[in-house]
Amino acid sequence: MIRQQKAPGLERMQGMKPSSSVSSLASAEKQDVTLSSLMHYTRRPSAKTTGPLQQTSRRHDDRLEEKQEVAEVDDRLKGPLIPKKKRKKKSLITVNLSGTRYDVIRQMSEKLGYAIAKDDDPNSYLFWNDCFVATDRISEMKSFQRINHFPGMGEITRKDCLARNMAKVQKQLPEDFSFAPKTWILPADHSLLLNYAKDLRAKKKTKTFIIKPSNGAQGHGIQLFRNAEKIPQSEHFIVQEYIDKPLLMDGYKFDLRLYVLVTSCDPLRVFLFDDGLVRLSTEKYLAPTEANINHSYMHLTNYSVNKHNEFYEKGDSLSSGSKRSVQYFREYLRQNDINDGLLWQNIGDMIVKTLIVSEPHLLHAYRMCRPGAAPGSDSVCFEVLGFDVLIDRKLRPWLLEINRSPSFGTDEKVDFDIKSALIEDTIRLLNIKISDKSRNMAAQKAEARKRLFRQNKRADGPDISEYEKKRQSIEKRKEELKETLARLRKVSAREDYENRNRGRFRRIFPPDDKIRHERYVQLLSATFGIFMSGKAPAMQKEIQRVYNNKLKEVDVMDMLAECEADEKEGKYFTGGTGKPRGPKPLMSMPVSVPSPLEHDEDEDEEMEDEETESMSASGSPSMARQGYHSRRPGSSGRPDSRLSNDGTSSTFNSRPNSGVRSRPTSNMSATNQRSRSLSRTGNGKHTPLQRSTVDDNFLMSVVKEREDELTRKTLVALNEMRIKFPGKSDQEAEFILDKLHENWKFHKPRIASYWLVKLDSIKRRKVIDIVRSNVRAVLLRTWRVSDVDSLKVYRIFNRVFNRLLWSHGQGLWNCFSSSSNATSWEAIFSKSSENICEAELNCCRRIVQLCRDCLLIVYQFAAEAKSSQSNTPHPSSVDEQSSTGQSVSARDKSLSLIPPNTQTMSQKYSKLYPTTRTQSMGS
Ligand code: ADP
Repeated sequence: MIRQQKAPGLERMQGMKPSSSVSSLASAEKQDVTLSSLMHYTRRPSAKTTGPLQQTSRRHDDRLEEKQEVAEVDDRLKGPLIPKKKRKKKSLITVNLSGTRYDVIRQMSEKLGYAIAKDDDPNSYLFWNDCFVATDRISEMKSFQRINHFPGMGEITRKDCLARNMAKVQKQLPEDFSFAPKTWILPADHSLLLNYAKDLRAKKKTKTFIIKPSNGAQGHGIQLFRNAEKIPQSEHFIVQEYIDKPLLMDGYKFDLRLYVLVTSCDPLRVFLFDDGLVRLSTEKYLAPTEANINHSYMHLTNYSVNKHNEFYEKGDSLSSGSKRSVQYFREYLRQNDINDGLLWQNIGDMIVKTLIVSEPHLLHAYRMCRPGAAPGSDSVCFEVLGFDVLIDRKLRPWLLEINRSPSFGTDEKVDFDIKSALIEDTIRLLNIKISDKSRNMAAQKAEARKRLFRQNKRADGPDISEYEKKRQSIEKRKEELKETLARLRKVSAREDYENRNRGRFRRIFPPDDKIRHERYVQLLSATFGIFMSGKAPAMQKEIQRVYNNKLKEVDVMDMLAECEADEKEGKYFTGGTGKPRGPKPLMSMPVSVPSPLEHDEDEDEEMEDEETESMSASGSPSMARQGYHSRRPGSSGRPDSRLSNDGTSSTFNSRPNSGVRSRPTSNMSATNQRSRSLSRTGNGKHTPLQRSTVDDNFLMSVVKEREDELTRKTLVALNEMRIKFPGKSDQEAEFILDKLHENWKFHKPRIASYWLVKLDSIKRRKVIDIVRSNVRAVLLRTWRVSDVDSLKVYRIFNRVFNRLLWSHGQGLWNCFSSSSNATSWEAIFSKSSENICEAELNCCRRIVQLCRDCLLIVYQFAAEAKSSQSNTPHPSSVDEQSSTGQSVSARDKSLSLIPPNTQTMSQKYSKLYPTTRTQSMGS
């Protein structure tokens, strides 16, 4: 059901008392004011038909009447505008709340004047989901839309992932990350835990441990242990050192639920809400002993646990009961002469550092989902996180966990007061505007044009003149400066808006304090180094540029002016003062066409014709040269044999009808069309009329045909690729893959455990990245573009890669299944608005196949590395390979052999390389 809210303005208009003339008109005649009704006044009976007296009085009356009529006509003429306006429905910002059960979100959306959309409305501006959202969904979002989750946030919100990531940073930066209690992930760290307990015993110390399910919530499955040896080796649990000296309030243990809003990860922007919940336990706290460790009302502070205690007090204010406000808590500290400001600052610091740990994961995942998005553009994702913080007696904050779907239930007054303000301020900070949609469409159009143009431009062609190179380099510089300028303006506008609309939020990253800012930027660089080793240098450079950019708007404008002055000197414009040096560019050379990129967006409309013509001029000759090559000969006997290049597959069924675009008409007609387009541009001059007759559809079909051609070439290149097994020939690698398939029953559980359990998300991603980076290289070569990210085909591939990583690697694992699961990834396209042609789909299939092969080879390599390490001959059947902690080290070793950056990766470990045949084909 649509619950549509009327715009306040509209309501006011509808409820408005009509002016007297309008009302009299309406009541007197109750008819529509149409042209015919207006005509009636011009055809009044003439005065001649009546007597003189009557005539005089009539004349007087007439004049009066006429005046009145003129006024009425006037009103009638104006009148229709009012009902017309009334009829015009004012468009509203719509919010899709089908994914949330919390009424407070609806209430606050309505308070802000937003309309609640139909449950199945995909075009809403804002989506609010209680559960995590699949990466596909985020990929499909339009850039004016917002959704309340980030891909990759699980890296800090799942307890085991948080523990693993924290352990990594603690190793290198112990001082900065000491706020997370010591944690072990079971079963892998079980022996480390026992060793730790042994050390404690040797030192005659005892500690309490708390165990929690890795993906648990609301206190489910939590237990305390005084003796670490008694902790079971259960899967999917973590063990934490218990903070046994918590700060107490009225003798009760409590924790804080703080709310943190992340509005963007590219770049990172974080806000802390200045209030939250204090959740008290309901049994007075005592240090843990064997006798009380099972008292959950004493040791756990969850509302979901304590509400079952008869002593749970429902508070009717913010300062009483078992749930209170953080503001009250700070007041309580002040009354007890405790510096609450310092504590609050330390808490903010802890939150920022935690998000710094998440940033490499967030950025990577976000860019994978939104490859075309310009850095600094509005983020489609935002997230309200619930940080659970424990304060100890020394007033040290400890990070217990982070909730990606904190409860917005409003059982008590304190809940409603805090959460409603939080949601209202969150939505307001997102700065959603009705115009975002149209701006998005315009930007998309501009981007499509840019893309189409680029596809036909061969800036790096061997026949390019010096003069042209110079011209292009100035253009490129101008373009970069314009982008920088736009980015700077956007940032300052955004900051301005945030400062005026942050409500009770305070921005904690980037912080205003310069020293703090510098430290955080250093930490960001360090975490990229830790999590992305190979890519780190590039990322670190980018971090400096984004977060430490001292460039001011005026500087950029100066540089731009300089650039334009250079250009005006006209060294390369034939009409300019200077003469171009070097050979005169040929008319048919695509590079001779002025780049549309040098124009502002508002000039786009005028540019359109020139651009499209230049595309036809530049695109066609190269198309004519490009031939479609023969099919690749037979493939290996494995069930997943390579796909033929004509878009059919021996093992995969082609996708059912829908969404498959038909190929353009015959080559013959396309060639004719091309030559027509060429001859029109032959002299390089066009009359406005000629320009206006350029047929968009025709151009689109030419470009489409070219895209199809290149997609087919891509498929050929992908089919030529093989995963290289270090130190082995191609045939040997093929043989290994065949053997793995032959002994599939044996290997299946081992590979499943290796991929799904032992590899963490970064390592899983690295496996997929081996294929991804090589696919990028193929696209670069085949499509001859500098910006692969903007290619539609790459966006499609990225969705497949993301799908394979979906659900902690389950996506790829499903592809090994013999059931229909094997092609379940194809479902990502069935709901998509994007049309995928058969050749694109076949490329995707080939990519999936390469990813499967890649996993098998990495797995086998790890197994061989392990067996050679233990000096036992490696059985092709990998008999001794256990799925326990031991093989983790072998795996770690093997993966460390995969340098994450593409170059070394391709040199050393798992290069996917085209065979000689591909090279000889020169693609
Ligand atoms: P859940 O997601 O199930 O709520 P938490 O990690 O938040 O799990 O733990 C639940 C409760 O257990 C916390 O609110 C806190 O009171 C207590 N707790 C958890 N970890 C610790 C710890 N390391 N030291 C002390 N108390 C803890």
